[in-house]
Order: sequence, then C-alpha cells, then structure tokens
Amino acid sequence: MNGDEESRKVAAVCDSCGTVYAAVERQDGDVRPIGSPAGCCSGSKLTVVEDESPGSDTVESW
Ligand SMILES: [Zn+2]
Repeated sequence: MNGDEESRKVAAVCDSCGTVYAAVERQDGDVRPIGSPAGCCSGSKLTVVEDESPGSDTVESW
C-alpha cells in the first residue's frame, strides 16, 4: 500500500528558510519532505529544485 507509482522523488527547498530536503512530489503537486510529513516552517511551501538525483548524498534510503 504505497504510492510509488503516483509520486516521484525530488529535491525541494523550503520557501521560508531555504533548507533543502529529499522529498516526494505527488501527481497532484503536493510536495512532502521525506521523514518530515508535517513539512518545514509551519507548513511553508516547498519548491522542487531538482528531479531524481542518483548518487546524491542528501537522499535518504527507503
Ligand atoms: Zn523551512
């Protein structure tokens, strides 16, 4: 019961503080940082800055 087929792994930056997260972007455009389902800075928007990046040391293991 996972949404792998409806989401993609991306890098996203918090619009408020600039922190970059390994995140998941769903088909509906919802971006959620991995391991931080509540988001960052009290729900501040995350902007996708990079698509899947193999080898990135910021990507957490599944
Ligand atoms: Zn933030």
